[in-house]
Amino acid sequence: MSDPKARYVDAHCHVDLYPDMEALMARCEADRVLTIAVTTTPRAWPRNMQLASRYSFVEPALGIHPQLVGSGPSELGTWDSYLSQARIIGEVGLDASPRYHRTLDAQKEVFAHVLRECAKVGGKVLTVHSVRTSKQVVDMLEEYLAGSGCTVILHWFTGSMGDARRAADLGCYFSVNADMLSKEAHIKTVQAMPLHRILTESDGPFTKSGTQPRSPSDMPQTVEKLASVIGLERDAMCLKLLDNYVSIFRR
Ligand code: MN
Repeated sequence: MSDPKARYVDAHCHVDLYPDMEALMARCEADRVLTIAVTTTPRAWPRNMQLASRYSFVEPALGIHPQLVGSGPSELGTWDSYLSQARIIGEVGLDASPRYHRTLDAQKEVFAHVLRECAKVGGKVLTVHSVRTSKQVVDMLEEYLAGSGCTVILHWFTGSMGDARRAADLGCYFSVNADMLSKEAHIKTVQAMPLHRILTESDGPFTKSGTQPRSPSDMPQTVEKLASVIGLERDAMCLKLLDNYVSIFRR
């Protein structure tokens, strides 16, 4: 996790959703990008863990995505069965966008269960989705994770500056992607995030650069953009991001 050769951080990438998952992991290593390989279903865990174990730059995560809650039989039992093997949990969270609003109550039950189970064992790192639910997500983190020794990375966080400050006060980190950095309102939120809690992410393949899905290899451009938004020199920004990433796993 603190490989001296590391240069960049991609704290949220759906590595298993690219055509060649293993080639992408090899690319993370070649481009020296410390990458968290999130998943949307716990069924992806065994292969994610097995492949990631061959690459020191890739950390596998165990996920149960809010957008998939209610779209089939519950996968919570499968998620439970792998929990003890996983240090990183994600993608998890809530989504109240028009398409998923109807399952919000079920999503909350799943997310509450995930947070309770993580709090029981402690020491987990969670990468959390909060579309149109920033306040509710921060409320739930406060309710379930306080004092648990777990660390939360809020991914693509677009809540208010006030919500960002509240989350930061709870100890949360934020992973910022290039799409967030091209919207004025979101830039304000990014500027409210404490510098020692900021990370970069691609959220690939769900974000695109032109017509191509973004990947961990696009992190140099994201760092460039972030550095200019924050008003820091590019190389200093790179070092800060690496420091922040390492600090999560030192906790
Ligand atoms: Mn995602």
